[in-house]
Amino acid sequence: MANGQTQQTDVVVVGAGPVGLFTVFECGMVRLNCHVVDILDDVGGQCTALYPEKPIYDIPGFPRVDAAELIVRLKAQAAPFRPVYHLGQQVEKLEPLTGGYWRVTTSRGTIIQARAVIVAAGVGAFGPNRPPLDGIEAFEGKSVFYYVTQRELFRGRRVVIAGGGDTAVDWALSLNEIASHVSVVHRRDRFRAAPDSEARLKALAKAGKVDLVVPYQLHGLEGSDGQLTAVTVATLDGETRRLEADVLLPFFGLSMSLGPIAEWGLALEHNQLAVEPSTAATSQRGIFAVGDVVTYPGKLKLILTGFAEAAIAARSAYALIHPETPLHFEYSTTSGVPDA
Ligand SMILES: Cc1cc2nc3c(=O)[nH]c(=O)nc-3n(C[C@H](O)[C@H](O)[C@H](O)COP(=O)(O)OP(=O)(O)OC[C@H]3O[C@@H](n4cnc5c(N)ncnc54)[C@H](O)[C@@H]3O)c2cc1C
Repeated sequence: MANGQTQQTDVVVVGAGPVGLFTVFECGMVRLNCHVVDILDDVGGQCTALYPEKPIYDIPGFPRVDAAELIVRLKAQAAPFRPVYHLGQQVEKLEPLTGGYWRVTTSRGTIIQARAVIVAAGVGAFGPNRPPLDGIEAFEGKSVFYYVTQRELFRGRRVVIAGGGDTAVDWALSLNEIASHVSVVHRRDRFRAAPDSEARLKALAKAGKVDLVVPYQLHGLEGSDGQLTAVTVATLDGETRRLEADVLLPFFGLSMSLGPIAEWGLALEHNQLAVEPSTAATSQRGIFAVGDVVTYPGKLKLILTGFAEAAIAARSAYALIHPETPLHFEYSTTSGVPDA
């Protein structure tokens, strides 16, 4: 659809993470159409961007489901309601219009007018904390990766992992099974990981299967055309070591920021949107919020909690949009999936 033209819908969902996708389904069940906007180029939020191959064990009805598979199923569940996705763009502005409408404007100039907005923006805009290494941009996406989206990419490779948290330790344990060599660079010899995982890593190091490079920090990269050949590391005293490597995985956590959402005049608590849990309403009429972005007493940052919030928000949006026709409560076993 052409940018610059105003598009109309019942609800704009800000964020296409698992909770945003389920919000589309719940809105569809009460016959509300949705447009969905996400900064990322693909749907799935944290599940897709951060841990697609990790199994999740606490989704009701799925004893175990990989995060990527959960997203495929949520997208399929929303599909009958024909949501319009606007990916690769950030919702920047949210402005009230007369008649109880909201105008949503994205970073690509897409303008959508809606009666309600449901913010499912998770942790906001997130990205990796990058180590300050000269020229690292040239290697990113080719031999420097901040997330493991496909473990198999590292089979037979010489992998250097940097960091001391659970992500670094868990991937060292996992990639050790398929990589030709794994080094773990950390500035201290104590890790901030689950004690059991740290003990397993140290046992592998003792057995000579993993190279623990401590206390060192990343110092420089060698290679050309985006392909690493070595990583240099240094102690605080300036002593350096050269580690031959095909791949560097720096795991220094995520930087998260609410971004423009913080400017929309909605009540915030600890950098999250304060909502009334019985309605998912924010402090602005017509703006609801669900999932990791919200807070209220007892909030659990879990996907399943977000799903329940999505059902509540959809019904609140319905009541706002159709005050003259109170929603007749129906189970899905009775209603089926209504036509979009
Ligand atoms: C490693 C890891 C393991 C986890 N394991 C589990 C688990 O086992 N069980 C569990 O329940 N939870 C788990 N979680 C947490 C779970 O992933 C989150 O609770 C869930 O992703 C929240 O979903 P969400 O849709 O609210 O937000 P997100 O998944 O964060 O999605 C929000 C989306 O909004 C987009 N966005 C933000 N701001 C804007 C904007 N202004 N404009 C457009 N788009 C915007 C973002 O790009 C993002 O795609 C795990 C998290 C991690 C990192």
